[in-house]
Amino acid sequence: MIPVTKTYLPAIERYHEKVNEIWHSGILTNRGSLVVELEASLKKDLNQDHLLCTSNGTIPLQIALKLYGKEGEIITTPFSYVATTAAIQWEGCKPVFVDIERDYWTIDPQKIIKAITPKTTCILATHVFGNPCDIESIEKIARDYNLRVIYDAAHCFGVNYNGKSIFSFGDISTCSFHATKIFHTAEGGAIFCNNPEDNDEVFGLHNFGHKGKLEYSGLGINAKMSELSAAMGLAVLPDMELIFNKRKKLVDKYKTHLSNLNCISFKTRPKTEINNSYFPLEFPNQAVREKVEKALNAENIIPRRYFFPSLNKLPYIKSEKMPISESLADRVLCLPLYHSLSDSEQMLVINIIKKTLS
Ligand SMILES: *Cc1c(COP(=O)(O)O)cnc(C)c1O
Repeated sequence: MIPVTKTYLPAIERYHEKVNEIWHSGILTNRGSLVVELEASLKKDLNQDHLLCTSNGTIPLQIALKLYGKEGEIITTPFSYVATTAAIQWEGCKPVFVDIERDYWTIDPQKIIKAITPKTTCILATHVFGNPCDIESIEKIARDYNLRVIYDAAHCFGVNYNGKSIFSFGDISTCSFHATKIFHTAEGGAIFCNNPEDNDEVFGLHNFGHKGKLEYSGLGINAKMSELSAAMGLAVLPDMELIFNKRKKLVDKYKTHLSNLNCISFKTRPKTEINNSYFPLEFPNQAVREKVEKALNAENIIPRRYFFPSLNKLPYIKSEKMPISESLADRVLCLPLYHSLSDSEQMLVINIIKKTLS
């Protein structure tokens, strides 16, 4: 089987080495030495002053919305994974969708302005497939209308924009370290708080509101990463350059072989160092997408419809139509892309697509 992605498993000896430390310390969670070590390594690698590791990549969205959402209206993108919308709803806020930019598949700033009401508190936008939103325009809107900006940067490990880590932007940025993501800790994530004055509150929010053992500074939840997850992260982290390079090669090869088929429309925003976390194709209509999907499935190749449905169509959502996002969600397929995808496997994928479209 050739799936859309395979989890990167580091040398087991390196994982054992880290797990041994757990057996020596006897500490499995509550910010043990491995979580602290992982956070320090990530800060260095990503050139960030502040981040906290979390138990997954959804809870940091919830924490950000708890801090800034105030149960108000959150302007958000319909083209993302369900977690982006679910977090808004779960926190008692109201998702207000605006459509995406045709070229970059990220939220359209012009449409954000039209959706602002007195109840709007935040913009929650996804850097989808690691492609940055129109950060400058969103920043300006946030300043003009006094809104907070939260970036769901779940796909963005290793992405740089304008010479800086993508996690440096927004009031808060979040990342997912789920096993399907480019850097992983099995389950895990991180929250990047870019307002030093909010650091303590974010810390409290992720740890039951503890302020010392017996005191509480406020409401909090359990969003802590375990030592076992941190051990996995520390074992994977040294291999990230290899992973990025391998994926770049695979993406270049897909582009070489598929570029004259008119289905590569995903465009990286200028000034971006992308991480090649996904390789989406956009077909001219649903029927062609289905035909390609079926032809691949017949050879046990499983691309994925990232992202379907357009999130404004979720059963618990009431929203206007989002024509660009809905149309894209009907027509897009992400191709297999992972470190161990072999040359012959990739050629098989390429040849099936070529044959189906010819
Ligand atoms: C994966 C993902 C999440 C959620 O991450 P988890 O670690 O699985 O909780 C959130 N947003 C987007 C866009 C994602 O792709």
